[in-house]
Amino acid sequence: MERITRCDCHLHTNNSFDSETPAERVVERARELGIEYIAITDHCDILEWSDANIARSNAQASELNEKYHDITVLRGIELGEPLQSPEQTAIALGLCEYDFVLCSLHNIAGEEDFYYLHPNKEQAYDLIGRYFEELLEMVRWNEFDSLAHFTYPLRYITDRDGVQVDISRFHPIMKEILATLAANGKALEINTSGLRSPSGFLLPTVEYIRQFRELGGRYITLGSDAHVPEHIAVGMKEGIEAAKQAGFNCATVFINRQPTEIPFE
Ligand SMILES: [Zn+2]
Ligand SMILES: [Zn+2]
Repeated sequence: MERITRCDCHLHTNNSFDSETPAERVVERARELGIEYIAITDHCDILEWSDANIARSNAQASELNEKYHDITVLRGIELGEPLQSPEQTAIALGLCEYDFVLCSLHNIAGEEDFYYLHPNKEQAYDLIGRYFEELLEMVRWNEFDSLAHFTYPLRYITDRDGVQVDISRFHPIMKEILATLAANGKALEINTSGLRSPSGFLLPTVEYIRQFRELGGRYITLGSDAHVPEHIAVGMKEGIEAAKQAGFNCATVFINRQPTEIPFE
């Protein structure tokens, strides 16, 4: 079997509220696929996180990394909405040692997760605008390694609900976010979960990956955002192809918060 990818750095286990997969099952599936590096990135949505779950996730990643010698299991975290509670964020980041901090924004301040929202077109423009404003603040904050699913609201607004928005209206702030990320030496995630929904697109699409590169971005991480074993590495072929088209010749994994480049095959 031809290997799809050498790394997948966005994976959930039953230490996330929305997954039932034991961590060992994640590792088994990744080994079947010949993947060399995975990061377990359980949810830490900062307004409703569980210190017990994050500590367990971290400990399990360490144990599994010790147990298997043909795969590196990295201790990650998907830190959501960090600026909505700086106090809790400091506690979460101090709770464990992490290899990889993946930062995301699932809900803008005062709103529910985009997953639960069904805006009309006018509301969608307002929400997306506020999303990118908060994302820019998050990227300026800079206490993470990679920015997850940059175009997250589109997964639901355009792809699931079919509300058509002209995203070019947000290009100036999107460019500012990518430029800040690049200047800070942080990674942009290519999240392949969007490929599993009806119209199927990467989060973000190749044009933004290319723009990140042109703005001086050095690192990209690959994430399937799998919540079940069957989704591990799904879409990676397309994700890697987009990275190559954008001018990248490797993905990056973070070990002890330091970037290690993994050349594409
Ligand atoms: Zn996420
Ligand atoms: Zn996730």
